[in-house]
Amino acid sequence: MAEIQGYIHSYESFGAVDGPGVRFVVFVSGCPLRCLYCHNPDTWIKTDGTLTSAEAVVSTICEYKNFIKNGGVTISGGEPLMQPAFCREILLRCKQEGLHTAIDTSGAVPLSTCRDTIDAADLILLDIKDIDAEDCKTLTGQTNENALALLSYCEETKKPVWIRHVLLPGYTLSDEKLHKMGETLASFSCIERVEINPFHKMGEYKWETIDRPYTLKEVSPPSAEDVSHAKEVLRSYGLPL
Ligand code: SF4
Repeated sequence: MAEIQGYIHSYESFGAVDGPGVRFVVFVSGCPLRCLYCHNPDTWIKTDGTLTSAEAVVSTICEYKNFIKNGGVTISGGEPLMQPAFCREILLRCKQEGLHTAIDTSGAVPLSTCRDTIDAADLILLDIKDIDAEDCKTLTGQTNENALALLSYCEETKKPVWIRHVLLPGYTLSDEKLHKMGETLASFSCIERVEINPFHKMGEYKWETIDRPYTLKEVSPPSAEDVSHAKEVLRSYGLPL
């Protein structure tokens, strides 16, 4: 049988923020979105990554098995679901090794292309970029339609989901949007956790290496009060934060 290969951007052997416990994080390359705040624009082009077999990826992961046996493996990016067969093969091989698996996704690819890959993961970390479809297009280049379809699929198949959301002043930081988000997400019992991440500029310097202007130069990160207010609004809808 032909080897399943895909494009890898990099690895992080002791990730602490991408799922439960200490995790080995595989960053794949390629992303269909162009988020204005992206801190990894160097992952956008799939073929800029290193072509690697799923077998080789899992063999690298297994070198760290002792450290991640109570955590697991997360495939992040870029957008993992742009390489669905490759990611699925990594997830299945990790399962054979007894490791917990997660996909960190923006849900930006059509569900029809990635159902099997979602089925193969233990947990989905789903980034809801903007709860308003048109504003999502302004922020990322695409509406949130595919992300919400992915969330509905997780609900249908009882797949655990952790929602992530970046609080960006002038874009997603508004009471109206937070209430809309609370109302929308409250009906999904598959959501185990909601994480609010304040916008930051740590990747701004990387934009100098790509042929695009960084348009958020004048935008400041939200205050601690803004973040705790946003959490309060979402908690008021019974969401787990
Ligand atoms: S989905 Fe992630 S990698 Fe893709 S553009 Fe947005 S922030 Fe960057």
